[in-house]
Amino acid sequence: PAKASSVIVEGPTMGTHFTVKLRHDDVKLIDTANKRIPEILNSIDAMMSTYKPDSELSRFNQHQSTAPFKVSPEMIEIFQAAREVSDATNGAFDITVGPMVNAWGFGPEKKTAPPTDAEIAALLPRVGYKMIAVDTAASTLRKERPDVYCDLSGIAQGFAADKVAAMLDGLGIANYMIDISGEFRTRGTNDSGQPWQIAIERPDTPERTAQLVVPLSNVSLATSGDYRNYREIDGKRFSHEIDPATGRPIQHKLASASIVTETCTLADAYATALMVLGPEKGLALAEQNHLAVYLLVRNAQGDFDEVQSTKFTERMTWQATSTH
Ligand code: ADP
Ligand code: MG
Repeated sequence: PAKASSVIVEGPTMGTHFTVKLRHDDVKLIDTANKRIPEILNSIDAMMSTYKPDSELSRFNQHQSTAPFKVSPEMIEIFQAAREVSDATNGAFDITVGPMVNAWGFGPEKKTAPPTDAEIAALLPRVGYKMIAVDTAASTLRKERPDVYCDLSGIAQGFAADKVAAMLDGLGIANYMIDISGEFRTRGTNDSGQPWQIAIERPDTPERTAQLVVPLSNVSLATSGDYRNYREIDGKRFSHEIDPATGRPIQHKLASASIVTETCTLADAYATALMVLGPEKGLALAEQNHLAVYLLVRNAQGDFDEVQSTKFTERMTWQATSTH
């Protein structure tokens, strides 16, 4: 049989970086994949970025009306997934948090000072995921208030990983690892014929060191943390994860939240939601919904406590005994 060749495709996308490793014995298929991966990523970015004023998402945000707004099937799909996670997390994940994201300086607008209490109070009525209605049959989105504004940054990378995976599946490529800025989707095995080995980073180290290596095959892993993307104002640190209930950046001891699920779309959104919920409520949600969740919680010693849901522990144990 022909020797399988493996390649690494990487580059900038969605304001960040992607890496795809894949293996197949047909070099022509690999070439096709190589070309299509950036095309898919760039088209999703062009559709869903709040940084691009002419993206479909930005045009929906500019549509200051309660009249239905026609969108592409991908937008319907991601809005439905976002809704599912909002419902399952009691609104901890909420794409309508966009005005708050911008007010705290994590959006396209540059900000020098944090918003005042009055500004936050004025923006809060615009936040609430139930103010968006998705009509699948008509392929439209509708706002309940004309000034609702959505931010898909907490879910779009995972969605993009799933779209790349679907394309590779369609080509018949059965061994791959997709990494979009730390959101992973895997299939099959790595070049050693083993499950893909994905590192969960140790927070608070300038160099990237692994806290835990998770073997993955045919599943996704997403991590959200308060340690990479944050702003410092007057020596105080503000996380880019915003609690939709208060309109303020989260403040608790959870440094990072990782989750293993089948699709990367759900993993990405749940990871963000877990960060908002914090260590106790996050773990309770994981146990209740049988989610494979791994949390790193800051402790009094300046170190991290590892917290695993039952499902995560089962998965690690199963992987450890099944790979040999
Ligand atoms: P990362 O980009 O580090 O993977 P996340 O997936 O958690 O992090 O996404 C964080 C981004 O999601 C924020 O920068 C913001 O744009 C958006 N966001 C912040 N809070 C929420 C929230 N409660 N629900 C949905 N999206 C959020
Ligand atoms: Mg996310």
